[in-house]
Parts: sequence; C-alpha cells; structure tokens
Amino acid sequence: MPPLKIIAAITALFIVMAHSTYATAKELKVVASIRPIYALVLAVGDGIITPQLLMPETASAHDFQLKASDAKMIENSDIIFWVGPEMEKSLSKSIATLAGDARVVALMNEPAISPIPYDANPDESGGSDGHDAHDHDGQNDPHIWLATGNAMVIVDAIAKTLIAADPDNRGIYEKNTHVAKNRIKSLRRQMIKFLRAIKDVPFVTQHDGFSYLVREFGLNQRGNIVNIQGSDAGARHIVELKKLIKNEQIKCIFTEPQMTSQMAKSISMDMGVRLGELDAMGVGLDESPTLYVRIMQKNARALLKCLKLDTQQTIPSGPSGPAG
Ligand SMILES: [Zn+2]
Repeated sequence: MPPLKIIAAITALFIVMAHSTYATAKELKVVASIRPIYALVLAVGDGIITPQLLMPETASAHDFQLKASDAKMIENSDIIFWVGPEMEKSLSKSIATLAGDARVVALMNEPAISPIPYDANPDESGGSDGHDAHDHDGQNDPHIWLATGNAMVIVDAIAKTLIAADPDNRGIYEKNTHVAKNRIKSLRRQMIKFLRAIKDVPFVTQHDGFSYLVREFGLNQRGNIVNIQGSDAGARHIVELKKLIKNEQIKCIFTEPQMTSQMAKSISMDMGVRLGELDAMGVGLDESPTLYVRIMQKNARALLKCLKLDTQQTIPSGPSGPAG
C-alpha cells in the first residue's frame, strides 16, 4: 500500500474512533415513569437506549413518593415518557420543576388514543360514594397501555421522539418499531382467540383501571371494589359488594399485587366466588424487549384461569354460614 493510502486509512480510522467516542458520550438518558411504558421503550430502543424506570412496579403509581435519587434521575434526563397527570399525579410537580429542557412526552395526549371516560365504565354499582370514591384524578381512565391498539400508538410516539433526538440511529429505531408492532399485532390476535371463551363471564376488579382491556376484548366487567368500598371498608360497603356479586352473578373478583384486599378474600370465601389477580405493571416479569407482550399475556392468563367455567369444580366452595 502506498504511504499516502496508509495515511488516508489511518486518518479514516481516527475519524471513526472519534465519532464513536462522541456517540457514546452523547447516549440519550431516557426515563420512563411506569413499567409498561418502560417496557415499550425497551422494545423501541433495543440495542441503543438503556432506559431508567422511575416507579417500581410494586408501588402504586397514583401516589408514588419521589426519593432524592428519583429527582436526580429526572434532572439528568434528556427524554421523559409518562402517561400524564391523570395517572402519575405525584410526578406532575417534579417534572415541572426538575425536568429542565428535557423532552417530556405525556402519552395520554397522543391524538390517536381515544380515552375512556370514567362515566362510561361498566360500573353499575350505583356507589353511594359517587365520584369521591375514585382513586384517580382525571375524567378519563389513564391506564391506556392495557389496550394493544394504544400500545401501538405509544410505540410510534416513542419512536418519533427517539428518532428526533438521535437521528443517526433512525434505521435501528425503525426496525425495532416494526418488530415491536408485529409482536403486538400477534399478541392481539392471540388474546382475541383465547379470551373469546370467557368474554361474557361477569367479574369485578379491585380498582377501575381495566376499562381499555375490557373495551378492546369485549369483556364483561360489572364493577370494581374501590368504588363500592369508598374510603372506608365498612359493613355497608361489604353488603353493597355482596349484593352486586349476587345480582350480577359475578364469577371472579380480581385483586392486584399493589393492593390486595382482605375484604375480597373474605367475600370470596363467604360467597364461593373465585379470586384472581390482574397486574397492570408486570410484577416479577423479566426485563427484555418482549416485556410488554408478557405483561398482557399474564393478564390474559389470569382472566382465563379465573373466568373459565369448566374449572369450577376445582374451586373449593366457601364455608357454609349465614346467606348473603
Ligand atoms: Zn389506577
């Protein structure tokens, strides 16, 4: 090789090295508020972004208390993905004061997401506690990720934001987005197929966070415990819940890992109603680009297990006692 070409080659090598050092130093600091959103960032940013999760999946996202390290995480971020003040209400102030010039994306505001107002929930308990019994602030159910259609919208929003901030890696983000959306599409087909068998079976949930899942798959939710129960779990509320279970022929009460209910357990025993667990956050599931899919599959399995009619004989009947 002539000397000039060697010099050119060495120069080229240095340019490549300098460039990659620069790229590493500039790696985007991406923060996601809750685990399902974090899961979708893992999918879109696979191979490039190492996102940080703000709220552990075992905490209640509605009244999370920020630690000093969380404040630092927000301060140091380039991009923050969250659902919005209706969901992570405790984050509103911290984001406003700490985020600086970070790009903050409230996914609930994506125009392609059609929100479900709380009044349209299939909750006909006629809860005497009315709206005050709600543990959510806004008018719409903020648990948007529980519909696969919304998850696709969220994936697109994440991709758009990452590409704008890091156009050099556009090709990788686009490929990841394609893969993620194909996975979500086959997840939806799978869920439609498996949930068809139980879609008319009536159930109640712990809190009113599952209306997107219920709408997308045509499920038969008849109410939720928090709204019936109100702020105290007095005897009147237990009577109301028992009435609902009897009148609506409820087959299952779904609790959640973040808020297990002693009341649900004792009513399940008393009335011979099965107890299941829904988990909007994916507690205990491994982190990988398929995390979102596995969160939804976990919920689909829980619905099937608790609502499937032919498993009835395996459920122990509650202790006999005074009726109602
Ligand atoms: Zn909630």
